[in-house]
Amino acid sequence: MTSTLQPVTALTLDLDDTLWPVRPTLIAAEKVLAEWLRANAPSTAQNTPPAAMLALRAEVAAEHPHWAHDLSAIRLETIRRALRKHGDDPALAELAFDVFFEARHAVTLYDDVLPGLERLASRYPLIAVSNGNAELHRVGLERFFAGSVSARLHGVAKPDPSIFQAACAAAKAPPHRVLHLGDDLDTDVAGALAAGLHAGWICRPDGAHADAAPRAGAHRFATLLDVADALGV
Ligand SMILES: [Mg+2]
Repeated sequence: MTSTLQPVTALTLDLDDTLWPVRPTLIAAEKVLAEWLRANAPSTAQNTPPAAMLALRAEVAAEHPHWAHDLSAIRLETIRRALRKHGDDPALAELAFDVFFEARHAVTLYDDVLPGLERLASRYPLIAVSNGNAELHRVGLERFFAGSVSARLHGVAKPDPSIFQAACAAAKAPPHRVLHLGDDLDTDVAGALAAGLHAGWICRPDGAHADAAPRAGAHRFATLLDVADALGV
């Protein structure tokens, strides 16, 4: 084990782009939603191409800054607004959101994730810490985790130190004994370091951030298997 990781007794993990690529998942879910709207709210579907939906979403987000940590609330209100604007029943929004939300969980895990989580969970309590709205039981990973903290339920998103503190409390470990793993240099790496945790930057060779410079004080890993190797588990 790397000497600086010696004191680690618990791990916290980001979800989107750390355990699965999120962009293809969201693109597919948007398509499923568009198909559902075509069948159930044709006027909305016809008048709300992807660019229009994005513009509506930006409008909703700007009007509701208190939802910055709650992507589900923004998505639901965006759909409701599109339905109302084009003469369809706004009450369809919940059903439409459910369709999107289910599709949003049809993720394709990175190859190292199942064997990596298996090894890491055999020794450490794992806590999910996400700014997104993915739910562990819906992606079939609940069995590896001792708990999860989401920005939506916590009320503030990463990199706010309080969400990392909540995750440490869930792991029953003080911050200096916790290693946070994530793909984002700001929300994950800088956020974890500022909250007093160890930080592991998951930077897959084919990932979006592969060319970025690592953050001082952070460990860099290509896969969860590398994390398990470094921890000697
Ligand atoms: Mg991420």
